[in-house]
Amino acid sequence: MPITAIKGMTDIFSPEVELWQTIEARARELFESFGYREIRTPIVEKTELFARSIGEDTDIVQKEMYTFPDRKGTMLTLRPEATASIVRAIMQHRLYNIPTMGKFFAIGPMFRYERPQKGRYRQFHQIDAEVIGSKEPIVDAEVMYWAMLFLEKIGIGSTELHINSLGCEECRMPYKRSLVDYLKKYEASFCRDCQRRINTNPLRVFDCKIEKCKEIVKEAPRILEFLCGECQKHFDSVRFFLDQVGCSYTVDHHLVRGLDYYNRTAFEIIASGLGAQNAVGGGGRYDGLFKELGGPDIPAVGFALGVERLMIVLGENLPGHEIKKPDIYLIALGDDAQKTCFLIAQNLRKKSVYVEMGYELKSLKSQMRRADKFGASYVVILGENELVKGVAVLRNMTTKEQFELSLDGIEKTLAEKIKKE
Ligand code: AMP
Repeated sequence: MPITAIKGMTDIFSPEVELWQTIEARARELFESFGYREIRTPIVEKTELFARSIGEDTDIVQKEMYTFPDRKGTMLTLRPEATASIVRAIMQHRLYNIPTMGKFFAIGPMFRYERPQKGRYRQFHQIDAEVIGSKEPIVDAEVMYWAMLFLEKIGIGSTELHINSLGCEECRMPYKRSLVDYLKKYEASFCRDCQRRINTNPLRVFDCKIEKCKEIVKEAPRILEFLCGECQKHFDSVRFFLDQVGCSYTVDHHLVRGLDYYNRTAFEIIASGLGAQNAVGGGGRYDGLFKELGGPDIPAVGFALGVERLMIVLGENLPGHEIKKPDIYLIALGDDAQKTCFLIAQNLRKKSVYVEMGYELKSLKSQMRRADKFGASYVVILGENELVKGVAVLRNMTTKEQFELSLDGIEKTLAEKIKKE
């Protein structure tokens, strides 16, 4: 039996990979306009980093992490999300001391052991952004605006931004009490996980995907009714700035996000056409995470978009997506001609001309067929007769015109011709 890829992990190749490249390029362009700098962190981290940041009682940490001991028995985990690693890197290298370094982005694979289905994979990719060092609501609004603008720029217009506030320690305490009182009334009807969550981490009950649990929490108390003065002011300002840039949103009272580190603003972006896995992205503020991980008190806000889900929503409709075709296809007829063609090909590539050549010495007819399949603009044919005469035949594949070119300086002649067109 040939070896296949691991379940839930996919190979990405042409022509789809060109769509990925376009999406990534658009993200990089937009990040640049907003002053974000790229950060690349390792794919593997100490397990403790994720357990402490994401939260021991979250689905991710409880059920979904790829965790294993290394040869010395240190527990390692394939990153299930990017924020924790980025925060760790910022702390480790004291990047918070560099005034021009407040905004970070990362693009890369994440790993979660989930049940694979449409839009849900075990290796998936995120476009991630983190802004550190400001408590201001204007930053939350700008971060959401980036995400909505990006979606619009890549041609995903029909999305909904859902927002909520998770308050701070101060307002969450009375809210949790009221939530637990409500949940306790239905304790027996909840699934086992939720029964445990009521006592350990009641907000996580909102993450449950089981219908019966989802039904009960619909009527649960709303955190927005418990916000303290400061959190209320923050939330109102976020809404003001979103309104100001014409970013429409829905306040979603039950949006808590599946990770423990969020406070105040939480948001999710929902797209149609994705079925059950309808969130293309989500994020929020995490003012306490740096301190929680043993660092200084640095407020921050961030988000992640799932690239596979963007791809599903886009289908083939990404504007400006095009697979490059060769400028020149070189056909050699005979051993000596092939040697000359090999050299011409490399010299042209040095001049940034896209060249393909027939590596097998086949008939002219079969090589022409191959050149056609590639969609080459020009074909250069070099046979033994041409070689003796010191020329090659250049054929324009659109007009079908052909004429002889001197082999002397042929790379320069061809490169100039291609550049002019
Ligand atoms: P999260 O970190 O769970 O908030 O996820 C942020 C975004 O990543 C989601 O909105 C999805 O678009 C994407 N995502 C999360 N988990 C998966 C997965 N298992 N497969 C594909 N995309 C995912």
